[in-house]
Amino acid sequence: MTGNTHIIGGLAASLAISQVTDYDPVLLVVGGVIGAILPDICHGGSKIGRTFPFLSKIINKIFGHRSFTHSLLFILLLAAMMNYFSWNKAIMMGISVGVASHLILDMATKNGVKLFFPLKVTVRLPITTRTGSIVESIVFAVLSLLTVYFGYGAFTNYF
Ligand SMILES: [Zn+2]
Repeated sequence: MTGNTHIIGGLAASLAISQVTDYDPVLLVVGGVIGAILPDICHGGSKIGRTFPFLSKIINKIFGHRSFTHSLLFILLLAAMMNYFSWNKAIMMGISVGVASHLILDMATKNGVKLFFPLKVTVRLPITTRTGSIVESIVFAVLSLLTVYFGYGAFTNYF
């Protein structure tokens, strides 16, 4: 999936979570977007990879693309680290949800993800699409609608 699809996925997911929790929706959304782009640090051509080329190169060298940073282990370690440094709970929740949304979207591609890293099993959804395909555009459109829908629900009483 492209960076933009991941960002809209993180927005939709974090706004959905804001409906069922009391966390501040703004912090949830900020975390959601960060979490949604974070896993692609393993890929030099991604938005975040281009922002941190050195770090991206190291992670890619050690783990390869779509393995460690696209696994449940990554979410757990990230959550443990944020907890250790006692980050704001809403941001923590947003980042975790954003990473989860990224993994789900990448599971909808042919290459899948190494969800259970360090196990080498590739996990993908029963129906997959190619990055940049028409199906991805449809996914993007649906996620945009969800973002507006959940965003409306989250922010009507906010301001
Ligand atoms: Zn990815």
